[in-house]
Amino acid sequence: MRTLQTWLFGLLCAVSAAVYNPQIYKLDALGIGWDVVVVVALHGALAMLFGRIPGVRWAYFTLMNLAGCATTYFYTVFGVTVNYDSVAWLFETNSMEVNSFLTWRLSLLMGVSFLLGLIQASLSKRVLGDVPLKRYAAVFGVALLAVAGLYKGSWAFFKYMDWQPTYEAISLSRVSPISIPKAIRMYIHEEGESEKLLDLPNPADAPSQLVVAEDERPTVVFIIGESAQAAHFGINGYERQTTPRLAAMPNLLNYGVCRSFGNTTRVSLIGMLTDARIKERKPQHASFINLFNKHGYETYFISRQNKLGRSGHLTDALISCSKHVKYVKGRDIELVRHMNEAIGDTSGNLVLLHMVGSHFSYKHQYTDQYRKFVPDDYVNEELSKYHQNVINAYDNSILKTDDMIASVIDALRDKNAVVFYTSDHGDSLGKRGVFLHGTTVEQEQYEVPFLLWYSDAFKAARPQTVAHMQAAVGTPVTHDFIYHTLVGLAGIRSDVLDASLDLSGTMQSGVAEVAQPEAAAAVQ
Ligand SMILES: [Zn+2]
Repeated sequence: MRTLQTWLFGLLCAVSAAVYNPQIYKLDALGIGWDVVVVVALHGALAMLFGRIPGVRWAYFTLMNLAGCATTYFYTVFGVTVNYDSVAWLFETNSMEVNSFLTWRLSLLMGVSFLLGLIQASLSKRVLGDVPLKRYAAVFGVALLAVAGLYKGSWAFFKYMDWQPTYEAISLSRVSPISIPKAIRMYIHEEGESEKLLDLPNPADAPSQLVVAEDERPTVVFIIGESAQAAHFGINGYERQTTPRLAAMPNLLNYGVCRSFGNTTRVSLIGMLTDARIKERKPQHASFINLFNKHGYETYFISRQNKLGRSGHLTDALISCSKHVKYVKGRDIELVRHMNEAIGDTSGNLVLLHMVGSHFSYKHQYTDQYRKFVPDDYVNEELSKYHQNVINAYDNSILKTDDMIASVIDALRDKNAVVFYTSDHGDSLGKRGVFLHGTTVEQEQYEVPFLLWYSDAFKAARPQTVAHMQAAVGTPVTHDFIYHTLVGLAGIRSDVLDASLDLSGTMQSGVAEVAQPEAAAAVQ
């Protein structure tokens, strides 16, 4: 009986190691064979360690199985791997996002893996529970040394042979379940880093001037898109017309494909709202919103998304300097109503609208009026089989975004206003089997649209600014331009701004209109 239980325990450990590390099956036969041995040995060592400790064994085996099952599921279904962003998602998600991913198959798999965890814990108690400590320590010590030797030796050998995929597949940040605590540690580190955003120097403390008359301060709207890939916008040459309203929009400037700061919302938002640059990564100053406040703008942040960071501190650090902060439910299009209610007939506003846009699951992000590309139904577990339907649903979500941006423009058409739109990052739609964003480096996850619209009244008040914006079309743009261009559009010059990243030209002396000297001198 005891022997049978020992064999069964060993077998389950080996099977869970092999099943919960799906990344190794992309290798060639030799790589798979070798890496299976390595991950089985690592799982065995962990099972021996935690299976001997009363209480801990139950937590270890159930959590290991649940995490492993989720790892395998998301890798197989979406092609994504565990990293700190997955952990962040787990800690900070809301019910809407969970519903997009939770299918009956995933629920069933999680249930089965939980049961497997209980069985493994029970077996470990019978197999290891009453082994005398001395004997256990001796056997475990030898086993641990052997596993460490095997792991280090394999790694060094693969590295020496330059078999990159083979050693990457067993890097500790990839091997389940070790990848989980590593991702959690990374998440805690990143959380600590993002808290430093609160201590960034305020750009309003540096010298700055308003170079337009106070009553000519425009309304500046910044629409922060979500998961919108530049190549799926009709106005960027996509074979489907997914942006019919924008295509027919007068005064719209399309800067083409923009390089995003990151490929996750949390990383890109830092790049979009502070002056952090893609190369240097570190922000030098807090949000541009501070400069708008300083020069008398009413500032609004209206969001359909949830806050980022444990207890929301990351989003707060970036946008809480807005005079008005509002989180709303409903559909993206309702952001337009909230914007209208907020600004009324006034000008001199900065409005940030944070959309849900084209976040997975795409088919849940739009209503029937945008169901132009059909069929658009799919099941998460068979995205490759329903590949065209996934693309149809994604394109419908872009149609919705097109309507949303055009509706914002319509609401501001008769005002002195500018509207700026870009997305936080793109999304992968099945090329090389990868979906979603954030865990692998795929080009399309970094390519987003970049659009500017100006009203006739804005053009009448600032003809040179509009001429500069028009002349700048064709400039290769990145998220680095956002900070400097938005402030420039508001008619603000500041020592913290970089003229080479300001598409409005306001920072270039002689280009921007200095309307009235007394207005320019009003705020120092
Ligand atoms: Zn995002």
